[in-house]
Amino acid sequence: MGDMSKIRNIVILTGAGVSAESGIDTFRGANDGRGGLWEEHRVEDVATPEAYAADPGLVLRFYDMRRASIQTKQPNAAHLALARLEAEWAGSGRGAILIVTQNVDDLHERGGAKRVLHMHGEHLSAWCGACDGRMEWTGPLIDRPPCPLCGARALRPDIVWFGEMPYRMEEIYAALREADLFVSIGTSGAVYPAAGFVRHAREMGARTLELNLEASQGSAWFHESRLGAATELVPEWVEEVLAGDEAGG
Ligand code: NAD
Repeated sequence: MGDMSKIRNIVILTGAGVSAESGIDTFRGANDGRGGLWEEHRVEDVATPEAYAADPGLVLRFYDMRRASIQTKQPNAAHLALARLEAEWAGSGRGAILIVTQNVDDLHERGGAKRVLHMHGEHLSAWCGACDGRMEWTGPLIDRPPCPLCGARALRPDIVWFGEMPYRMEEIYAALREADLFVSIGTSGAVYPAAGFVRHAREMGARTLELNLEASQGSAWFHESRLGAATELVPEWVEEVLAGDEAGG
């Protein structure tokens, strides 16, 4: 992986692949189980503002189902290893670690990670179209419950749909500029702007490493690609980083 003694700041981008072994379907890739389809719809056709405008009930049901489902899942060895890395790296005073996730599940947090940027929103959050408030939400939205903040029946999933602006982009690009190491885990490299982070980090001087089940669309941008399951590759890599950290002082 190169000389770890020069590494201070690490940005880790995760995608659906990191949660696949917790039993949460990915959208793309060999193990999505549905060929990218949900009840005969392409996921892109459900996860858009246009789809919500055309058939809000269908979209709300889709997200109600996924919101209920993720609450039955548990973090896996990859989530736990990243939380350990975050705690030990930050504890060593060596540099900053930032986990940027495209995932809308909360498995990084339940695995113990403290600072996670959800660039595509969160299943366990609702957003009010009337007052613009955001709040923790664990139940269904299909019955149009009133917003606890303003009373309007205008809550939607707090999810960044295709064609909407991802969250926290300024913070993410600032971290990428400062990164010495950029690591991408379990993402297909098909969804921009996240798919462009590797190129940006590399152009700013970071080493780049990919951990994924299969080569992603942006593989050529990585200095190193390791192919395999996240629950094996991520704990191994974390061991390596922390061992190198001790060796490198
Ligand atoms: P994706 O579905 O497009 O790609 C998943 C990638 O993970 C594939 O390259 C696949 O080869 C890899 N993968 C599958 N199983 C793996 C494993 N066990 N170990 C390592 N890698 C594995 O997902 P994406 O790139 O994150 O982008 C799609 C969008 O889907 C994102 O915007 C995200 O918000 C959304 N999404 C989120 C979740 C979730 O929150 N868990 C689940 C599905 C989709």
